[in-house]
Amino acid sequence: MLIAEHLISKGPEDPDAADRSNAQGGGAGRRHQVVVIGSGFGGLFTTQALKRADVDVTLIAKTTHHLFQPLLYQVATGILSEGEIAPSTREILRRQRNSRVLLGEVTDVDLANHTVTSTVLDQTSVTAYDSLVVAAGAGQSYFGNDHFARFAPGMKSIDDALELRGRIFSSFEMAELVEDEEQRTRLLTFVVVGAGPTGVEMAGQIAELSHRTLRHEFRRIDPRQARVILLDAASSVLGSFGDSLGAKAVARLGQIGVEVQLGAKVVGVDRTGIEVEDAQGRRRIESVCKVWAAGVSASPLGALLAKQSGAGLDRAGRIEVLPDLTLPGHPEVFVVGDMIALDGLPGVAQLAIQGGRYAARQIEARLARKSPDRRQAGNVYGQPFEYHDKGSMATISRFSAVATIGRLRLSGFTAWLMWLAVHLVYIIGFKHRLTTLLHWAVSFVGRGRSERTVTQQQIFARQAIDQLGEDFTPTLSPRPGPDPRT
Ligand SMILES: Cc1cc2nc3c(=O)[nH]c(=O)nc-3n(C[C@H](O)[C@H](O)[C@H](O)COP(=O)(O)OP(=O)(O)OC[C@H]3O[C@@H](n4cnc5c(N)ncnc54)[C@H](O)[C@@H]3O)c2cc1C
Repeated sequence: MLIAEHLISKGPEDPDAADRSNAQGGGAGRRHQVVVIGSGFGGLFTTQALKRADVDVTLIAKTTHHLFQPLLYQVATGILSEGEIAPSTREILRRQRNSRVLLGEVTDVDLANHTVTSTVLDQTSVTAYDSLVVAAGAGQSYFGNDHFARFAPGMKSIDDALELRGRIFSSFEMAELVEDEEQRTRLLTFVVVGAGPTGVEMAGQIAELSHRTLRHEFRRIDPRQARVILLDAASSVLGSFGDSLGAKAVARLGQIGVEVQLGAKVVGVDRTGIEVEDAQGRRRIESVCKVWAAGVSASPLGALLAKQSGAGLDRAGRIEVLPDLTLPGHPEVFVVGDMIALDGLPGVAQLAIQGGRYAARQIEARLARKSPDRRQAGNVYGQPFEYHDKGSMATISRFSAVATIGRLRLSGFTAWLMWLAVHLVYIIGFKHRLTTLLHWAVSFVGRGRSERTVTQQQIFARQAIDQLGEDFTPTLSPRPGPDPRT
């Protein structure tokens, strides 16, 4: 195993010591070292906000891309390509000379020694920091039933979205082939678990796919016969949007052919169906293609940091940070985005963006505080983090969405136009905005979907993983056997 040590030198024990060394031009000629974990909204916006700061930033992430998660469902249903919502982090940061990007999964953070350990394949890196910003996000939660994941993939990564794309389109393909009526019905029944924004968007798109896009493409089956079920243990759809918008969403889903089943708790998932418990008792829905859009669980790095700092963890594994987003006893360590538990703030992109920018400003302010010109620190230093709610929105179908902005409640076409504008603004890069707009025109004005490719490699990989059994978890771990170079 190769171990690379990046800038290894023990960081100062207290941030003021870091401030002092940097106020003097970085002590022994070394600039303040900021390490950022994660290239999602929190990590990327932290790094970009430090563009003009007198620091070196090392961004470590386990993928080479920045992922725009809110549009994953469009990759899964063939509207967008993965490249459009997951541009290369390295490319985004190419002009930011004080930043560098390292690929690797962070496996350890040593708060006492100020180091971060990351690995990819047989390469391990240890990176020292003066300030650390942890933005490792959250994964899917199956509420203690992780074995459901094999049969009902979640939607958290590009891999998830491509896996779901394969399952959705292949279900129609297989339904065209099979002779058995029961089997065909099972293949044409799609179940989406979780009636939050992701579940609603996913169910809406599968319904539009079957009713509009695929309508004239098959000869034996009629894709419009597909049953799309959206179910949730809760009693409402889009609960966080309030009753009135929730009711509008249910009405619109009904119009486009989505069956909404509420108060229905999933108690079992297997290859060919899903077991549900509701007021009527236990029942089974026969369905090959299931999507899990319920529940999140914060990155395990939260537990690791909590153990070392004494911070608390909530039920979803989020770490209880101080009002300035730092860890108790570690003012040099910020945690932002989906990983934090603070005043019931929601796990949304804006929280990560604002948290990342805030952490960057705090780091700059701490350094400036010790500089000869103390005015640079402004009045930012030590101010607690304040979240500004900019509203939420969810699409239901083409030209129809719901949105809340302050006290404003919008639905229908106006909300959809707003959704369109906001998403275009946040997609990174002009070329991606342009191609996304073209693909939206193809799908929303026309009936097409430009990104329906499913490769044989994907199917072989899934079969191979299946053969490895339920306990196998795919990770980029070192290859087994002797290192061929030795
Ligand atoms: C399907 C879906 C739809 C959504 N829709 C919306 C929406 O419409 N509006 C909205 O506001 N929010 C939405 N969200 C939520 C929003 O995407 C998140 O709140 C936001 O991405 C959180 O940002 P983050 O930086 O905390 O985490 P993420 O964006 O998840 O980024 C985490 C980063 O950390 C990296 N990472 C994780 N673990 C490690 C490790 N051990 N080592 C190295 N790197 C690691 C990941 O690779 C990733 O780069 C949606 C989320 C999903 C999944």
